[in-house]
Amino acid sequence: MTQNDKLKTLKFLAKRYARATGQPQHAALDFVAARLGFPHWNELTGSAKGEWVPSEAQVATIRAFVERITSYEGTTFDHIFGGPDAITRGEVKGRPYELKTMLGDVCMEGDGWRIVLPENPLSAPRVEIDIKYAQNSPMNDRALLAEAVETAKALMKSVKARRFADWPRRAMKPDAEGKVRHPFLEMEEASLWYCLHCNAEISGPQIAGNHWHCPGCGASPINIFPEAFWLGPNEQKSAPVQARGEGQDIEPIVSIVDPRPKLDLNKDQVTHLIRSALFEDATNASERMGASLAEIWVDDDLDVVVSFEDHYWPEEKEPTAAIEVAAVLGIEMELEVMWSDTLFAWPGLGTVTQSTAEYTRMMLDAYRSNGIVEERYGNQ
Ligand SMILES: [Zn+2]
Repeated sequence: MTQNDKLKTLKFLAKRYARATGQPQHAALDFVAARLGFPHWNELTGSAKGEWVPSEAQVATIRAFVERITSYEGTTFDHIFGGPDAITRGEVKGRPYELKTMLGDVCMEGDGWRIVLPENPLSAPRVEIDIKYAQNSPMNDRALLAEAVETAKALMKSVKARRFADWPRRAMKPDAEGKVRHPFLEMEEASLWYCLHCNAEISGPQIAGNHWHCPGCGASPINIFPEAFWLGPNEQKSAPVQARGEGQDIEPIVSIVDPRPKLDLNKDQVTHLIRSALFEDATNASERMGASLAEIWVDDDLDVVVSFEDHYWPEEKEPTAAIEVAAVLGIEMELEVMWSDTLFAWPGLGTVTQSTAEYTRMMLDAYRSNGIVEERYGNQ
């Protein structure tokens, strides 16, 4: 497998994992990256452009892992209740609020404050106060805050009651040996369970009591399996989970936040801005392919090197718009030329038209009269 094939395979495997478990794709990509020792997927692809290449063995491990996970027949994944449209309005001590559920969490929002009650029963409620209201927020009133949290908890209770009604009875009620059944993956009943995220070993009553969230790291039910099949023979064995004491009341965590959007420019954003400017600079179909083929490297200081493919971007052509973008951002930009095989023979054809469809027609015609073309393409 080439390096590119390996990355494509990893991406494909992550997609299958996401589909099988009802998770968003970016979460599955980040998860695959984490299994290979990267903090997230972008970091992995960034390293893949430099020295690092996943080994055949690493790709095989991820493949085996995903095949194992997707071998469990999932029933419906009931993460979402209500959704953004199901909003309850009310007042707490005369202060209006809106209450809704979001991906299993309960979210309560007032003027300049919000309370998030996570689905995991061991997670503390999070209270956020916008910085503008820090001094006079109703959330500074402890009695009012406690009442608001109780209201959110009541909604969580009814959300969970609806959810548990769809689960097999054995998911919440361990038998005499402490065996429980996974709430929505088709698996054997077991008395010991393992968390994919922190490798903890969890007893049946523990996992049921915690509504199938890992008592150690809070991972959601789709991360809980009856065996730790992902641990290799040389990896550390699973240890019993360190859970906090039962019945402890969890104090809300209050933080002051600045809700205004914050720009912390990253490599990805710079790359997109520069590439967008290159398309603006391109004046014909050929140069547009040059803009798409150009390699854009951004270093840690966000300075940029653009390598233009010589066949599609004329060497003397100044990328004026890209230079202007770099100047606006206050970053350095270096330009260089690279030579690689052309995408199609006669790359110059694209310089005489604006239209990509027109170029495609001319290119097919040229192959037909002066080359060889597989005839399944080009029905005009
Ligand atoms: Zn865990």
